[in-house]
Amino acid sequence: MSDVNPYQSLRTQIDEAAEHVDVSDGELDRLKNPERILEANLSVEMDDGSTEVFRAYRSQFNGDRGPYKGGIRYHPQVSRDEVKALSGWMVYKTAVSDIPLGGGKGGIVIDPSEYSRSELERITRAYAKELTPLIGVDRDIPAPDVNTGQREMNWIKDTYETLERTTEPGVITGKDLSSGGSEGRVEATGRSTVVAAREAFEYLDKDIEHATVAIQGYGNAGWVAAKLIYEMGANVVAVSDSSGAIYTETSFDPVEIKEYKRKTGSVVGYPDAQDELTNDELLTLDVDLLIPAALENAIDESLAEDISADVVSEAANGPITPKADDIIGDSDTLVIPDILANAGGVIVSYFEWVQNRQRFYWSEERVNEELDSMIVDQFWNLIDAYEDRKLPSLRTAAYVVALQRVLDASEQRGTWP
Ligand code: NAD
Repeated sequence: MSDVNPYQSLRTQIDEAAEHVDVSDGELDRLKNPERILEANLSVEMDDGSTEVFRAYRSQFNGDRGPYKGGIRYHPQVSRDEVKALSGWMVYKTAVSDIPLGGGKGGIVIDPSEYSRSELERITRAYAKELTPLIGVDRDIPAPDVNTGQREMNWIKDTYETLERTTEPGVITGKDLSSGGSEGRVEATGRSTVVAAREAFEYLDKDIEHATVAIQGYGNAGWVAAKLIYEMGANVVAVSDSSGAIYTETSFDPVEIKEYKRKTGSVVGYPDAQDELTNDELLTLDVDLLIPAALENAIDESLAEDISADVVSEAANGPITPKADDIIGDSDTLVIPDILANAGGVIVSYFEWVQNRQRFYWSEERVNEELDSMIVDQFWNLIDAYEDRKLPSLRTAAYVVALQRVLDASEQRGTWP
């Protein structure tokens, strides 16, 4: 894994897109920097009576198209620059999905596995108090990201509603169903990754049935992608997590792997695996479809030459560094960029917010159908931009389309003369 600064990656991607869009230097500068960032110290009492201080962030990158939207990450590597980058990617992701939201992101520098449930609750509620003046159903709507989920979202919602003396389930998404969550939200990111891959196979005139698939990362996004692609008839030949990768010549049954990981804590050691691989070996397998679903920068220039998959559908945010992207761009591999491939999470978050505001809830079938059709529409929209404007990659096409939409909104608002 490379240590490329993700914020620098974001800026490079925007610069590349800007070459194909009519935008002034000043406006571009504005669109490459967050509108504001909260940096807070959370002083929290531990179970043993001591006090620990945690660094926490919330970046509101751009709100020209609607309220800021983006997840909250708990990880030791969270940093100001990482949060800035992730919030910027959200701007482009909401724009490329054409949903009326902007981009934000937050996080706490913490390894949550080292803390008890009650400590995590106090830490999350302390963070929610810092967030309360910034967030709101029409201002900024957080959601889960790495190492956070429904539990943390429910704590944040409860803290916000208590402090604001209101009931406003739409202040946060990714909630538990009984707290106003949406059907289909848990599966949404894996689902969009796979739906986009299905369309890419159609574009390349390839059959998804019996296609070979390798998936890096077996968390929420990776495992759902494995399950859905397997249900479409593909063969899941390799999966991994932070402990390593496993391989089979036939196909794993993703549900069985999930159960094994639940019991043992890792996919590694799964008895029906024919081989154990490193994560780098998994990424360079000669497969039809590669799904990176772990953290950013998984594929750097040292690995890029060896990427052999026909299609890469990026479930993770920023899994390919810009230098690696240039190398892969010169090969036959078609990369479906993260801002479209993993947009399912934010699209169903948007559906959750819509349902919360209407206090009227949809069936899982309706959520999945609406998500499928939005990804299909936007995938072919990108293909049109890519072919008509002869753009170098689908990633550039995605940034060009998204940048244009943000610019249009900013001009309409009069943010920029
Ligand atoms: P998660 O915490 O549920 O799972 C992460 C997985 O990656 C785990 O299996 C972990 O073991 C594995 N992993 C961590 N480091 C690794 C390494 N060095 N090598 C191999 N595997 C490693 O997280 P998630 O929600 O599945 O998110 C995964 C990625 O998808 C992140 O980049 C996240 O930003 C992105 N994403 C998630 C959502 C969502 O709704 N969950 C939405 C959009 C994007």
